Amino acid sequence: MHVMLLSYSVLVLLMPGPCFTAPTFIPEEECTPSPEPQVDLKLATDYLHQYYNLQKDPFGRIKRSGPSFTSKVKDMQIFFGLNATGVLDSGTLEVMRSPRCGVPDVEEYSHIQGTRWNKNVITYSIGRYTRDLPRNTVDFLIGSAFSVWARASSLTFVRSHTRNADIMVEFVTNAHGDLFPFDGPGGTLAHAFGPGSGVGGDTHFDDDERWTAGGTGFNLFVVAAHEFGHALGLKHSGNPESLMYPTYRASHPANLLSREDVANINALYSPVRGLPNFVLRNTQQNPWLSGSQFPRLMEDKCAPDMTFDAVSTLGDATFFFRERYLWIKHNELDDIKEGPITNFMPKIETSIDAAFWVPRRSTAYLIHESMFWTVKGSLVKGKPRALSHFGFPAWIQDVDAAVHIVKTGRTLFFMHDIYWSYNENRRVMDFGYPKYITEGFPGVNATINAAVHKEGFIYFFVGPQVYKYDFTQKHVVGVEKANSWLGC
Ligand code: ZN
Ligand code: ZN
Repeated sequence: MHVMLLSYSVLVLLMPGPCFTAPTFIPEEECTPSPEPQVDLKLATDYLHQYYNLQKDPFGRIKRSGPSFTSKVKDMQIFFGLNATGVLDSGTLEVMRSPRCGVPDVEEYSHIQGTRWNKNVITYSIGRYTRDLPRNTVDFLIGSAFSVWARASSLTFVRSHTRNADIMVEFVTNAHGDLFPFDGPGGTLAHAFGPGSGVGGDTHFDDDERWTAGGTGFNLFVVAAHEFGHALGLKHSGNPESLMYPTYRASHPANLLSREDVANINALYSPVRGLPNFVLRNTQQNPWLSGSQFPRLMEDKCAPDMTFDAVSTLGDATFFFRERYLWIKHNELDDIKEGPITNFMPKIETSIDAAFWVPRRSTAYLIHESMFWTVKGSLVKGKPRALSHFGFPAWIQDVDAAVHIVKTGRTLFFMHDIYWSYNENRRVMDFGYPKYITEGFPGVNATINAAVHKEGFIYFFVGPQVYKYDFTQKHVVGVEKANSWLGC
């Protein structure tokens, strides 16, 4: 759809003002008077212009009885499996009146086919909300709509709270800055741009519709799942079973996706779960990978002695690092992705010793020995930097674990039996460190492999166990197996 934007912008330049919004019809002289009322003609012309690339002449007029009009009616009838008569019969008009997605059904001018994100972790952010539903309901329905695609593919969706996420979700009305104005209640419900930078992936919902979580009005979960299909690079399907069918239908199978939808998303984003995929890709250039490390790790993730090198939240997901392997678990949804780190972050070809997330900057820091990478959204920014950047003394060449505490604005770095406290606001080490871990965290007297902060607790990963630590009360309040976090 982003290339459509170009052709539309040319049209707008050619057709100033009212011509664009109110096309003029030119009845052909030899033509018999039309049986269709003007209102149907206007509906049909606008519909074919918007969804079937019906061209207007340089004055913004359309010859409704011209060959172009009739053939566009036929194109539309073929797409929807109607009788291809080229005549605006009642069945055709009924489809044209149905509420639907704003993305065109014909793509030959938009080149949307084949566009895809060049990564498997995709960020999204919700900008303007609708007032039809509570915010947490919108969050849940949007998250659930992404998980429809996550479950069927190798993709992971990470929520961000910035305005530069890959997919910006917005509820807007009428003209809203992208040359595709909405049309009030009914008609167009939503639209989305195919993958790409800038507006690419962005998904807009017409807030003049009544959005609901149930069967009345328009079900936000169903419409969002359809639109995210476009945001991932899928086009419309004429198969009524497909989630990518253009018109709105209230009833759907529980999992929404048809076989065709699952096949199409996997054709765009090849699965990463399958082992042969990365073995074939990586063995030649990286002999380390030709060993049996990954298969063993994958199979043994539920083994009783399973440990992690680093654990960190990243948006709405938790990342678990072990050797050169990564599991990504969505915090609210029952969804785990796994694969070599390079499948998700191609620049990182090492293991990760420690990782932490600073939500205020939507940034994760991944540490390997004496260097660290910055990950913003789902992108690894630039080259790794030296760990000394944080103000460590020169003799510190690696750390065991790191965790950021939002409430205090501090990042804690753990190394053997000592720890440092870094002030993220002032970007300096706090005075008086390092301290002994047993001093700051009574009850924790082993080397910490990984640490993560969640819901007011610090979770210390020590060997195959996790200690839930209440740092205001200063004691361990629970112990569980590390891999229970991966559903073992
Ligand atoms: Zn659509
Ligand atoms: Zn829009």
